[in-house]
Amino acid sequence: MHCPFCSTEETKVIDSRLVSEGYQVRRRRECTKCHERFTTFETAELVMPKIIKNNGTREPFNEDKLRRGIQHALEKRPVSSDDVEKAISHIMYQLRATGEREVPSKLVGTLVMEQLKTLDKVAYIRFASVYLSFEDINEFSKEIEKLKDS
Ligand SMILES: [Zn+2]
Repeated sequence: MHCPFCSTEETKVIDSRLVSEGYQVRRRRECTKCHERFTTFETAELVMPKIIKNNGTREPFNEDKLRRGIQHALEKRPVSSDDVEKAISHIMYQLRATGEREVPSKLVGTLVMEQLKTLDKVAYIRFASVYLSFEDINEFSKEIEKLKDS
């Protein structure tokens, strides 16, 4: 990277360490020409993919919306806020890990269901019944049967 003092292209890293609990790298650099020192920080780009809705339109990922959906399913269920936040972080991590710029909203729903399944079976069924909009009662009971086995 260019020296911010003299713009020369030759700078060298003289020290590199992890900061912010390992989520950031701090580098001390020295310009090989003017010998000024400066610091750079490197952080992973936490860009969420856009969501492709069922009708084909795109919308930005909305963390609040995700949280509301999960909280709604978990209403009056014995699940701590900590666990809810962990589930949200995990879902967001998985969405970023796809490396895609856009992901179908269906994927988000599937990830939510996976999390709810481990958090609370009742919430899982609530969410699944709305989300999968079960065509008929048989489909719904099949889902419940699957839960009994797991
Ligand atoms: Zn320089």
